[in-house]
Amino acid sequence: TTPRIVVLGSANVDLVVRQPRRAEPGETVFGTSFQTGPGGKGLNQAVAAARAGGGVAFIGAVGDDALGAQLRATIEAEGIDTRALRTTAAPTGIAQITVTDDGENSITVVAGANGLADLRDDERTLIAEASHLVVQLERPEPLLIEALRHARAHGVTTVLTPAPARAPLTELIGLADVLVPNAGEAALLAGVPDVEAAAVSLSRAAHTVVVTRGADGAVVAQEGEIVSRVPARRATPIDTTGAGDTFTGVLVAGLSQGAPLGEALAAAAAAASITVTRPGAADSMPTRAEIDAALA
Ligand code: ATP
Repeated sequence: TTPRIVVLGSANVDLVVRQPRRAEPGETVFGTSFQTGPGGKGLNQAVAAARAGGGVAFIGAVGDDALGAQLRATIEAEGIDTRALRTTAAPTGIAQITVTDDGENSITVVAGANGLADLRDDERTLIAEASHLVVQLERPEPLLIEALRHARAHGVTTVLTPAPARAPLTELIGLADVLVPNAGEAALLAGVPDVEAAAVSLSRAAHTVVVTRGADGAVVAQEGEIVSRVPARRATPIDTTGAGDTFTGVLVAGLSQGAPLGEALAAAAAAASITVTRPGAADSMPTRAEIDAALA
């Protein structure tokens, strides 16, 4: 069957080290734990959408190495179409995440295979046949622009998470039907600190703007007006990593299945409220059954 959702984005292995404090230059400190897990905003959103019942294909790249094999197996196990997951000479992308006792995380990303910048004919076909193309900013910008333009030319709805944020992104935002920044990203891109004002401003360039604001839920703007506010579900967060990616993935899964925007947003908020109660990124995302149980 033809996947309705195509996610073009990054796949990383997250390497998480916990240690009491940061090392000074030249110093060695002993860490207390080390964990690896699948990550990268593209992979995360693909997993969220697939678990929510969306038909998903992933356009991405991993290295010809052990981490790449591990990521490929993870993506396949989620039932995601990996025809367009390429293996490249560059190493698998990693995010080295250091968590210190003061609660501050420092993250180093090595893009590696995610730097691949060309779109093959089979990938263009996959996009043209989709209902939704979903991209984030962890792949080269010219590739993103090419993919979004191609989707637009074929009547495919485009979804952009402008993260990690950098301003200005005028061309990319103008190619987005649905723009899903978090509060900080919205403020940066619009150049105004007030979140609702930022949403309104961005909705003059992108058709529908959904700004997520953590425990304060989300706000939706269209054509220069706030059209709805989505409350967050009550949750006791233990690790919010992946909340935003869950929200976007589940939102798109709903839209691709023909759900009205309000219904898709409610499912997205319910799903994200589950993700924050579990450790990890993709590993913490709920299944369709769990989302339905939360909504019931
Ligand atoms: P992250 O970078 O941690 O993945 P983000 O900054 O991209 O997240 P947020 O705006 O923090 O995105 O969260 C996305 C959505 O997740 C929110 O709109 C909300 O529905 C849900 N959410 C986040 N934090 C909480 C929370 N503490 N309780 C309940 N729901 C939450």
